[in-house]
Amino acid sequence: MADLDPTSGEIRSARGPQNSQRILILGGTGEGTELALRLAHRPDLYTISSLAGRVSEPKRPEGIVRVGGFGGVDGLVSFLVKERIGMVVDVTHPFAVRISHNAELACARLGLSLIAFIRPPWTKTKADIWHEVKDFKEAASLVDFQKRRVLLSIGRQELNSFAACHNAWFLIRAIEEPNGPLPRFHQILLQRGPFDLSEELRLLENHSINYVVSKNSGGPATYTKIQAAQLLKIPVVMVKRPVKHTASTVETLEEVLMEVDRLIQFNRTTR
Ligand code: NAP
Repeated sequence: MADLDPTSGEIRSARGPQNSQRILILGGTGEGTELALRLAHRPDLYTISSLAGRVSEPKRPEGIVRVGGFGGVDGLVSFLVKERIGMVVDVTHPFAVRISHNAELACARLGLSLIAFIRPPWTKTKADIWHEVKDFKEAASLVDFQKRRVLLSIGRQELNSFAACHNAWFLIRAIEEPNGPLPRFHQILLQRGPFDLSEELRLLENHSINYVVSKNSGGPATYTKIQAAQLLKIPVVMVKRPVKHTASTVETLEEVLMEVDRLIQFNRTTR
């Protein structure tokens, strides 16, 4: 068990075997959970997973977990020093830009190794009807017309971009109750994925959805809504990914694991 402060969720002190490599996993994704599972039992490693704390009951990865922001680049630098972290693995969501940017700056400042993972985006097939847009504001202006019935399954943080919509009706699906301004006509559906294809088909049909708004998150966990839209010939307004990394990235967990091993060897021979 981690020695956690019960109120802040912070680890109270650096622990673990003195000779092990100390790794910070920036998580909050399925891949972050999978990576923690695969590294947690390695005797040569000491891993801490970090979650943003966006939901009150997150799926906790295996091993030591801390929750909540670090307090910008300076806070992250302090954490890395205090916990004697030797390597950071960024396995955050493709739309979580700030934490990746902070990780790059903090690692550069301390001369730490950073492995940046980003899962590949979904690509449009011949059967898809996609309108690709650069951001959520553009998505909102594209769907806000009368008689549009829109599935908005983008998480809670970007919902304010749709607050000015006065014409379309929205089915807003989120894990927890949204807390900001919402479009005029809407219904909230509190659900946590993943959802299978038959559930998504039923959802779109039962609510007579004729538009879907989605981030291009990539990965299998939320792809079934895109497949369902494709089968029902419903257009998808697909929000393109923001630029997240300036450093080079890897796209599979196998590559992450190989890179971890390579860097462990490198750190052993150079430090
Ligand atoms: P963000 O814009 O990159 O991060 C905002 C701040 O949250 C960071 O500066 C950092 O705070 C904190 N933070 C983010 N990830 C963290 C982590 N793994 N550990 C500790 N602190 C973390 O990301 P976001 O605001 O969470 O989300 C942006 C977009 O990504 C949204 O579209 C959201 O739906 C999507 N997304 C995020 C997550 C997630 O787990 N973060 C999961 C799924 C989807 P400090 O500066 O104080 O360190």
